[in-house]
Amino acid sequence: MARQYAIGVDLGGTTVRIALVNHEGHVRHAESYRSQATRGPEPLMDDMAAWILEVIDAGRATRDDVVGVGIGSPGPLSPSRGIVFKAANLPGWVNVPLCRAMRERTGLPTVMDNDGNLAAFGEYWAGAGKGVENIVMLTLGTGIGAGVVVNGELLHGHFENAGELGHTIVVPDGRRCSCGQRGCLEQYASAANVGKRVAEAIRNGEPSRLAGLVEEGVTFGSRKVVEAAGEGDVLAARIWDEACYYLAIACVNIQHAYNPSRIVMAGGMSKAGAFLVEAVRRHFKLLTWDLHDDSPDIRIAVLGDDAGVIGAAGWAWKAEDEGRWDQPPGF
Ligand SMILES: [Zn+2]
Repeated sequence: MARQYAIGVDLGGTTVRIALVNHEGHVRHAESYRSQATRGPEPLMDDMAAWILEVIDAGRATRDDVVGVGIGSPGPLSPSRGIVFKAANLPGWVNVPLCRAMRERTGLPTVMDNDGNLAAFGEYWAGAGKGVENIVMLTLGTGIGAGVVVNGELLHGHFENAGELGHTIVVPDGRRCSCGQRGCLEQYASAANVGKRVAEAIRNGEPSRLAGLVEEGVTFGSRKVVEAAGEGDVLAARIWDEACYYLAIACVNIQHAYNPSRIVMAGGMSKAGAFLVEAVRRHFKLLTWDLHDDSPDIRIAVLGDDAGVIGAAGWAWKAEDEGRWDQPPGF
């Protein structure tokens, strides 16, 4: 019988999620594991190999049923060479030949890509982008991850770093970003930064029902801001609306750069659902051009936390279907 599954791995600083996924994008079995990333790459890769076999086993499959492994990793990295150059949340990961190292440990062919890219590819393949060939996804979490699918292919660019839309500048000389630039989108419209901006305004004396939390030293993200805005908190509503305004600016820029039929919002902040998407659409309408009706459909992602593993497995399936496993992984 033909092999029925691919393995998708979503490698993160806190959690490694691994799923056994069939050719239609359905998850047969998935598990999350604690990365304990401070111990460095070698022990973590040893564990990942063991966890992969565990997930195959738990899905009542064998290694012979699996075509290969796809891994979504934080970057910067080189998908074509299978190397992670550096990863902010993975200490000690410098020039790690991830594909080669994992292939040696599991005996399975392995491909990798940027985690934001593969989450976008997951939604394209089996989620909110199903049925269309051009989507852009923004994952609104601690920062903003992104991925661009053009004509059914992930966009990589010359340095294989295309689609870092969280670091497109929306405010000239704006807030300093951890990346070294100023005014990046993620400084204004990520789940964490929306909370941070409300806390800053409270410290500067603006009244808000979230002032108590700030006094107690509690950090909060977009969920608390959405709650407070819904209860009529003026400050929370203003910062939320500003975030949606900046996202709408990003959407206009995305429209003109890539002309996608859909822009999909994922990540913690997307749990606000209609509260997010309707505000972004409203601002988008006021900001976009009137020369041509090519506005993308802005919507919420549907795969939730599994977008990463489904996309990673989908990337492995694509390698299988196109016979691309032979590209040289590692140095
Ligand atoms: Zn930045």
